[in-house]
Amino acid sequence: MAVWPAAEPRRVQIELAALTPIPEVVPEDRSLQDAAIAASEISLDNAWQAETIRIEVEPGDTLSHVFDRAKILPTTLFRMLNSDKELERRLVRLQPGNVFEFQRLDGQILSFTLHSSRIEGIQVTLNDDATVADWEAFTNEPTRMTRWASGTIDDSLFLAARDAGLSDTMTMNLAQLFGWDVDFALDIRQGDEFTVIYEELYVDGEYFGEGRILAASFVNQGNEFHAIRYTDQRGVTEYYDAEGRSVRKAFLRTPLEFARISSHFNPNRRHPILNTIRAHRGTDYAAPTGTPIRAAGDGRVVEARYNGGYGNVVVLQHGQGIRTLYAHMSRFGNGVRSGVNVRQGQIIGYVGTTGASTGPHLHYEFLVNGVHVNPVTVRLPDAQPVHSESREDYRQYAQTMMTHLQSARNSVASAALSLNE
Ligand SMILES: [Zn+2]
Repeated sequence: MAVWPAAEPRRVQIELAALTPIPEVVPEDRSLQDAAIAASEISLDNAWQAETIRIEVEPGDTLSHVFDRAKILPTTLFRMLNSDKELERRLVRLQPGNVFEFQRLDGQILSFTLHSSRIEGIQVTLNDDATVADWEAFTNEPTRMTRWASGTIDDSLFLAARDAGLSDTMTMNLAQLFGWDVDFALDIRQGDEFTVIYEELYVDGEYFGEGRILAASFVNQGNEFHAIRYTDQRGVTEYYDAEGRSVRKAFLRTPLEFARISSHFNPNRRHPILNTIRAHRGTDYAAPTGTPIRAAGDGRVVEARYNGGYGNVVVLQHGQGIRTLYAHMSRFGNGVRSGVNVRQGQIIGYVGTTGASTGPHLHYEFLVNGVHVNPVTVRLPDAQPVHSESREDYRQYAQTMMTHLQSARNSVASAALSLNE
C-alpha cells in the first residue's frame, strides 16, 4: 500500500475543525474561500449547514476528474477508495450521464450518492478521515403502467410491430416467447396476428422504458398461441398457455444459438478412417472456438473434466432420466463443476476442439434412461405446468388475461388498461 504523506496532518485538521468550525478550503476555489469567510462571520448553526454539489459525468471523465470538479481533495478520494476495494470496483465503472450528488459540510465530504440511472445508484457515507463508513446499492421501484398493442402482419413482424407502437426489443421478446412453437424465420405468413399486454415503466412521472410482457397471443397460419406471465404461490414465475402448460420446452433443441450441423446422429456410421461401423452417438455442430454452449435444460452437473476422446466434457443430469453431454469444449463456463445446479440457457462452456476432434465443434449427446437418442428429432418434454397448488388461482387469472387480450385485439388504437389487480 502506498504511504500518503498527508495522513497525519489531515487528522489534526479534522480535530481542529471539530473544535472550531473552520471550513477546509481548496485554495483555487474562490467561492469556497468566500464561504469560509462568510462562515466565520455567521452563527455556528449556519456554518454547519451541509451543501449538495451535483456533478454529471461527461464522456472521458474519470473518478478523479469528477471529484476534482466537485472541489474535493485528492486525499479524500484516495482514502475512500483504499478503504473499500469493492466500492472502488463499483465506482470506477463510470458512464457518461451518471450523476454524483455530494453532501459537503465545511469543505468535507460527509456522504454522496451516485445515480447510475434514474432507478439505480449507490449511497456512500464517509468517516471523518474520509474512509468509507457504509455504502449500499439501491433501486427505486419504477411505477408500472399497463399498455397493449395489436397488429396484423403484412410484410414482416417487425414492421407490423413498429406500426403498433412496439419497440424492436419488445418485438424480439415477443418472438422469443413464441419461439418454442413458431419458427419466426420460416413460418410467418401475411395475415398472422399478434397482441401483447406489457408494462411501461415511469420514474418520477417520466417515461423510463419498457417492462415485462404480461400476456401475449400470436396467430400463426390460423393456429393461436398464448403466453401469460404468472407467479405461483411458491414464487416461481413462468409463461403458461391458457391451459396452464409452460410455453417453453424442458430442453433447448440446440445448445448453440447459431450453428450448422456438421455430422448427424447415426448409429450405423462407417468410420472415415477405420472403415468400420462405429456409431456416431450425438450431433456435431460446427461453430467457431469460443462460441457459448448453453445448458439444454435445468439440471445438475455430474461431470466437468477432461475425459479422453471427449476432451473437455460436461455431462448434465436432468429430471425424467435424461442426460445431456457436451464435448470438445475449449473451456468450461464460470462456476461449472461437478455437483452444481445449472439453469436452462446458462453458459456451461465454450466451443473448442479438445480430445479426438479435427476442428472446432460441439459434439452433443442426448440420453434417455442411458440410451442415446437423436438430439435433433427426440420429442422434447414440456417444461413443468402451473404448480398444482396454484392451478385454480391460475385458471381465474388466465381467464382475465385472455379477456384482456381479446378486447385488445378487437380494438385498434393502443391505450392504457386497468387490470384491477
Ligand atoms: Zn460428434
